[in-house]
Amino acid sequence: MPRYKVTIARMGTSNIFLRSFLEELGFEPLLPPPITQETLSLGSRYTPEFACLPLKVNLGNYLQTLETQDPDLIFMAGGIGPCRFGLYGEVQKEILRSLGYDLPFIVIEPPKKHFTEVIQNFTRFLGGKFWRNLPRAIRICWCKAKVTDVLDKMTLSLAPHLSVEWRKELWRKRDEFLIAIDQTGKTGRLKAILAEAEEVFASFPQEPRADVFRVMVVGEIYTVLEPAVNFQVERRLSLMGIEVTRTIYISEWIWQQIILNFLRIDWQKSLREEAKPYLSRFIGGHGLETVAYTVRAARRHYDGVVQLAPLGCMPEVAAMSIIGQVSKERQIPVLSLLMDEHTAEAGALTRIEAFVDLIQNRKARTSSGLGSRARS
Ligand code: SF4
Repeated sequence: MPRYKVTIARMGTSNIFLRSFLEELGFEPLLPPPITQETLSLGSRYTPEFACLPLKVNLGNYLQTLETQDPDLIFMAGGIGPCRFGLYGEVQKEILRSLGYDLPFIVIEPPKKHFTEVIQNFTRFLGGKFWRNLPRAIRICWCKAKVTDVLDKMTLSLAPHLSVEWRKELWRKRDEFLIAIDQTGKTGRLKAILAEAEEVFASFPQEPRADVFRVMVVGEIYTVLEPAVNFQVERRLSLMGIEVTRTIYISEWIWQQIILNFLRIDWQKSLREEAKPYLSRFIGGHGLETVAYTVRAARRHYDGVVQLAPLGCMPEVAAMSIIGQVSKERQIPVLSLLMDEHTAEAGALTRIEAFVDLIQNRKARTSSGLGSRARS
């Protein structure tokens, strides 16, 4: 059986575990180049103006791969529910077909739907080796997703306790460890990399600080996880000494979407409770999470919330008006950054800096007794 070449779109660190997953299954994975403005321009050129930003960037990824390499098929995640994510596969397939690329897609979706179809798609390309290779592919994929997420959590929690210079060094080392994770195919080595990261990070001189500002990052999964479309907001805040709590990690998302959904466990129950009385049901994408986590941030005395989403993202636009109300009622500053292909980096950065000034001044006023904070 030939070794089929498969390509994927980029999203944060997910290409690290996806590449290993596909390789272990028996495919030859082909990665697109890192996302740049050119990727976005290319994707936007062939999609309708109102299409979601992630769809445009994904399409740009596929087109850049197709320009220089020769994939046999495309592998992507899909979704269900009241937003456009479930249509992505078909839309992208049609656009590529209209451009002369008639490629099959394997779309892996939450196992409420089409799961047998996904398995049939895999076996069509891999034959019997699919079942043989699956356990190892899942193991390496899961371990890499977990380890990259743990590394990011360690980085984000340590940064505010370091000097400016050491924060830069911390992020530099984090990037180095990511490369090491990407390059290994052994789960044992992954554990060693994580242990080494813990040791290196523990050796950094910490400066005890009483005034650590805490910001929660909420929003649509792609915009939260892909630094190229959010102008590295997480890293920028972290380098400013802000403690960033990211609310979406890919390993947790996989766990919820694949395992908990398969077992029919209602993992959104606690989120619905947290979001009450502002919102009581799933509205597609990460809209419910955005509201629930904003309420949580207020309850846990965070200094602010940053919402990241594509412009025109239905669940996030609905959530945005709700969290505006949460912000007023619970007195927590919220910055909503809605991105599209026309968003200028300079403008977004100015807004982020102004937001950081705002939360810092607000805390200074509160500590000096000039302001008050209502909390639930
Ligand atoms: S969550 Fe938002 S960006 Fe993603 S597909 Fe749905 S509407 Fe589009």
